[in-house]
Amino acid sequence: MNAPIAIIGTGLAGLSAAQALHAAGLEVQLFDKSRGSGGRMASKRSDAGSLDLGAQYFTARDRRFVEVVQQWQARGWVAEWDPELYHYNANGLLPSPDEQVRWVGTPRMSAITRAMLGALPVHFACRITEAFHGEQHWTLLDAEGQSHGPFSSVIVATPAPQATGLLSAAPKLASAAASVIMEPTWAVALAFATPLETRVEGCFAQGSALDWVARNRSKPGRDGQLDSWVLHASSSWSKQHLDLDKEAVIERLHGAFAEMIGCPLPAPSFSLAHRWLYARPASGHEWGALADADLGLYACGDWCLSGRVEGAWLSGQEAARRLLEHRQ
Ligand code: FAD
Ligand code: NAD
Repeated sequence: MNAPIAIIGTGLAGLSAAQALHAAGLEVQLFDKSRGSGGRMASKRSDAGSLDLGAQYFTARDRRFVEVVQQWQARGWVAEWDPELYHYNANGLLPSPDEQVRWVGTPRMSAITRAMLGALPVHFACRITEAFHGEQHWTLLDAEGQSHGPFSSVIVATPAPQATGLLSAAPKLASAAASVIMEPTWAVALAFATPLETRVEGCFAQGSALDWVARNRSKPGRDGQLDSWVLHASSSWSKQHLDLDKEAVIERLHGAFAEMIGCPLPAPSFSLAHRWLYARPASGHEWGALADADLGLYACGDWCLSGRVEGAWLSGQEAARRLLEHRQ
């Protein structure tokens, strides 16, 4: 009998691979440095209800992803979000409706990965620092010095900068991951006791510190008494202000929001800031996944494709497909 397959990362890419392998009858074991699953699709529970601080919504353009999203919808994991969309630029704030179908997890973004994880075996709060191949099998080492294994294969499903070191047994894979630049995003949540007098539910911005704002209560199934908003700074603003302290980030982005939204902005009754260091790849790739099938080492993640939720799911499927193909 084969040893299980280790999957490092319980974001959408790692869970997509895990589900495909589990469905093929293989045993998987997952690891994540965080206390829960979801990675950049995680939601934060707060005094202002649960907040999607990372991915805001997603689109489905690839046929395979469209099909799986329909299944998620049938199970109640996702619902369509049809916000009143605006666009903000040098001409001001203008409605910007479109026909694009957009999806969100219900009642929060993290519901999707939580449901995908199901009862699969997972170690949370376990940062893997090394993956090494012995005579026959793989062993993982974590930041506490504990080893895990043996494993027949390893799938690294972390952002590229965190994957590089874990791929060192396959220098070609490691150098591909090292070539990927990932840019940061500062996210701020603001919540108001009195709802803002605006029709805006989502807004794309240009020429501002912000590149996106969303009104939480406009998404299906959201709870919370307060009118809470999630603001995302642009990549360039986030890079320039990478080490600013959180209070200052909140103040600056609150200011940019006040300029954009075009209605009186009271002092928020709740605010928080979160820095995503590796938020998005600077450019997309067409790798699907990276593989050294003879060694049994694979890498997947949004950075192998489009840098979007859809890309993460497809990349996990591709890593699993290549692993299964090699075992036939
Ligand atoms: P991740 O979700 O990053 O998962 C990687 C996991 O690996 C994490 O859980 C991490 O904790 C874990 N990990 C890392 N290193 C280790 C280690 N050494 N040991 C153990 N575990 C480790 N996409 C869209 O389609 N639409 C959007 O609106 C959108 N908005 C976004 C807004 C923001 C602010 C951000 C940050 C991202 C956004 N995205 C959006 C992108 C989307 O979130 C990602 O494409 C997708 O979630 C990536 O999934 P992943 O599994 O590849 O990586
Ligand atoms: P999408 O089709 O809704 O958006 C793609 C892009 O098209 C938007 O960024 C925006 O510039 C433009 N756009 C779309 N509809 C618009 C409208 N009605 N009015 C004005 N501009 C409009 O979704 P997608 O292709 O699935 O892209 C995912 C989204 O996730 C993008 O907005 C991207 O910026 C965002 N994202 C953000 C991060 C981050 O770190 N902040 C990381 C990854 C992805």
